[in-house]
Amino acid sequence: MPARKHTPIRTCVACRTAAPKRGLMRVVRTPEGAVVVDPTGKRAGRGAYVCRNVSCVQTALKAKKLERSLKVPLPADTAQELLQLAAQAEEEEVTRS
Ligand SMILES: [Zn+2]
Repeated sequence: MPARKHTPIRTCVACRTAAPKRGLMRVVRTPEGAVVVDPTGKRAGRGAYVCRNVSCVQTALKAKKLERSLKVPLPADTAQELLQLAAQAEEEEVTRS
């Protein structure tokens, strides 16, 4: 079997779609107990993933899916940041096409 390029697959907490890690946003609970958006995907801690689109972020927030996955409350500014990043990503997509 040929060696395949390592592409980590993660699942969106909202729609349960599996996608390469880069296509999703990572939210991480740091060892210090903070919950932050992790654009690099490299921070240590327990991570949860959500699609880079507003509807998935809204679903995740509304159903508290990130909270449930991370087992800690999601700070309002982290939620806000996720929504902003998702809106940005959608805008970029519109501009590109
Ligand atoms: Zn999703």
